[in-house]
Amino acid sequence: MANLSPMMQQYFEIKKQNPNTILFFRLGDFYEMFYEDAKLASKELELTLTGRDCGQEERAPMCGVPFHSYESYVARLVAKGYKVAICEQMEDPALAKGLVKRDIIRVITPGTVLESSMLDEARNNFICSLCIEGTDAGICFADISTGALHATALSGGDLTEQIKNELSRFSPREILVNQNTLELKELPKFIRERLSASLELLDDTEFEPHNCSSMVLEQFHSKSLGDLNLSDKTGIVQSIGALLSYLKRTQRVGIERINGIDLYTGAQFMHLDLSARRNLELLETMRNKEKRGSLLWVLDKTRTAMGKRLIRSWIEQPLLSPVQINRRLNAVEELAGDAILRDAIAEQLTGIHDLERLMSRIVYGSANGRELRSLSSAVMRLPALKTLLQSVKSNLLTEIEQQIDLLEDVYQMVDRAIVEEPPFSIREGGMIQPGYNAELDLLKGDMSDGRGIIAQIEAQEREKTGIPKLKVGYNRVFGYYIEISNSYKDQAPPEYIRKQTLTNCERFITPELKELEGKILGAHEKSVQLEFQLFDAVRNNVAAQLTRVQSTADAIARLDVLTSFAQVSAVQHYVRPIVNLDGKIILKESRHPVVEILLDAPFVPNDVTLDRDENRVAIITGPNMAGKSTYMRQTALIVIMAQIGCFVPASYAEIGITDSIFTRVGASDDLASGQSTFMVEMSEVADIIKNATNKSLLILDEIGRGTSTFDGMSIARAVLEYVANKQLLGAKALFATHYHELTELEELVDGVKNYNIAVKKRGDDITFLRRIVRGGADDSFGIEVAKLAGVPNKIVNRAKQVLAELESGQQVSMPKRRGHKEEAQEDLQLMITPPNETDIMDRLKKLDVNTLTPIECMNTLFELATLA
Ligand code: ADP
Repeated sequence: MANLSPMMQQYFEIKKQNPNTILFFRLGDFYEMFYEDAKLASKELELTLTGRDCGQEERAPMCGVPFHSYESYVARLVAKGYKVAICEQMEDPALAKGLVKRDIIRVITPGTVLESSMLDEARNNFICSLCIEGTDAGICFADISTGALHATALSGGDLTEQIKNELSRFSPREILVNQNTLELKELPKFIRERLSASLELLDDTEFEPHNCSSMVLEQFHSKSLGDLNLSDKTGIVQSIGALLSYLKRTQRVGIERINGIDLYTGAQFMHLDLSARRNLELLETMRNKEKRGSLLWVLDKTRTAMGKRLIRSWIEQPLLSPVQINRRLNAVEELAGDAILRDAIAEQLTGIHDLERLMSRIVYGSANGRELRSLSSAVMRLPALKTLLQSVKSNLLTEIEQQIDLLEDVYQMVDRAIVEEPPFSIREGGMIQPGYNAELDLLKGDMSDGRGIIAQIEAQEREKTGIPKLKVGYNRVFGYYIEISNSYKDQAPPEYIRKQTLTNCERFITPELKELEGKILGAHEKSVQLEFQLFDAVRNNVAAQLTRVQSTADAIARLDVLTSFAQVSAVQHYVRPIVNLDGKIILKESRHPVVEILLDAPFVPNDVTLDRDENRVAIITGPNMAGKSTYMRQTALIVIMAQIGCFVPASYAEIGITDSIFTRVGASDDLASGQSTFMVEMSEVADIIKNATNKSLLILDEIGRGTSTFDGMSIARAVLEYVANKQLLGAKALFATHYHELTELEELVDGVKNYNIAVKKRGDDITFLRRIVRGGADDSFGIEVAKLAGVPNKIVNRAKQVLAELESGQQVSMPKRRGHKEEAQEDLQLMITPPNETDIMDRLKKLDVNTLTPIECMNTLFELATLA
């Protein structure tokens, strides 16, 4: 350490205070990393690893990134779960005496990103704090880029399950936990593997109740926890307190952006676990993780970033209160029925920038002139929007209208002070309007006077010297100078002082010029400084209006989502659901909201009848590809759509409030975690049985498929009996199965009804009718579906033979073997290149018969025949 150069000693001092972070150490125009950080970053960011003399024998490993483009490098590191500490030069190196002062200005972690280039405008970026004490837990979620803070207390029952559920609801990027959390081993695994979030263990002292409560009171300017409705909620106070101290440590400034707590309870929202969210493809598809193909994709016609974030959270949190749901439905009905109003609102919303994140940057002191202008141009649209809402009738829309604050003063503040097109930088002037500040105007006057005099000097010197091409110029090194081309340089008057010789000219200065220069530059420097001060004052004044802007932003977001729901409802011919508490789900001619849009062919609508009595459980049979899973998913999606307050794709809909939806469908995406498909399936079934209630809706697709037929069928039957039994569970369930034997349960168990999806069979071929009808299917048509999918005829025929033998109770005979090698090869050939009917159809479609010669016709026919 002793041999280290002073700068490296400074580096180590700072590094010591910020372990577990990658330190970006500002050195002139670069952020440099050293030692282990350098090795790691050079690998992760593909940077060249170099070295730097550090006073010791061996050079310190080093790599760096240019300061002006550091954001993209930080973004890549943070996306990989690293934390990056930004260490700045705290004084101008040119003026510093000795070693430049440096300090950390911010630590950027996955959950504390503020830079718009690193954020997705359509998503919240949550950081979570979780404090577990015995069977109680306090949990909170903050988005520091919007100021949102949600918190709840959990207790009793299956705590791990409840926590997993909350985490799935908000999908935080970073999770702060206390020591107890690590004891619930399942949780860290879930956080890292299923949520792909980064886990940060904080010291237990950070969760110390007394300190936490002081932090909370200070943050929310309150005298007692009672004022914040937190008097008996120690867990929540601990989780928020620990979060606040973490933010203070990492962010240094701007924490006041978080200025309110949304206390919620699980009882407000439908319970959806991670599997259900993923399986139902609410926000993204399972396979490609894309928005296209998800429910969000269908419903999201929002115009603002705030609306985009809110629609996600509404879809993630279907409501349970019929009153709340109907408030939204009334608003959607009003907007769906008035296309002119809806379009006019949509048009006004289109120009409104992201007020929430703009406000954060303003409060954190990182907004520039352009961002202030974006804010004011958004504010400018508010009066038109408010006027449009003047005549609305539904309660929710009226409330939104009243919540929109016109923010005229904020608009004035910005509009009077900031020019229309300010530069990107706030340190180089050019931002403040003329007439805003007398002193600034004077300084600018001096500058332009000076420039005017300089222009006069040029004319005056030309005349005096008689040199026609004499010019006055300016550069950063020499300031103002007089330039004379070589052919006239001997005529330069003696008072000219030579400063620079170029190939074809000489440059001079004069005392008069230098004096003027001093005035102009002095005025310029002062004006740039003054502009920054004035700008900063405007920014702070706007920041002081945080609460008002935030409340308006909230109103805009809600209006945007309701308008989006209304637009989709009107365009897609959805119907308003009748929400009830008696548990009935009655749908007439219902459709799958996503499949009906993606499908080229017309979608066949179907009815659904589920209730708490006769029709609790529907056993659905029918061949693969018939449409069973589409039917089950559409029912679940329609229930969710209704409970988020949107109309639904049906001609009539009654929706009994459903407290949770569970799914067990298809192959799981969990294979990477090393469990077998069957294990995953069974643990999901176990979760469902543990957590479902008689108000839940269960979507169970082919339970028991992953093991031998008898095992599978027995498990499926046992689950079905349990689910249907009112004394045990009595939940509503849609149960698709290939075990036709289960259809006998309709006779044996109360509340079970058989359905099948109709198909038409002609000879060997089947046509899917896509219609759901009462009764069990007589056949799975597995072999016919295999044929439809292009399995070679030889295999299809052999399967038929085996089936016939099995069905008649015979032992399966072996096929006769043909001795010839060529025939064996022919078999093989057929296996690898199945006759492809679509190929043949394609070729036929492309054929232009009119242009073919008879010989070509023969040849083509011959080729097609060999393909068949
Ligand atoms: P299953 O679960 O019975 O194997 P799916 O529900 O996956 O069948 O449906 C297979 C395909 O059939 C779907 O991808 C969809 O294209 C089509 N389909 C399903 N239901 C309908 C319907 N009601 N109308 C039109 N096409 C449908």
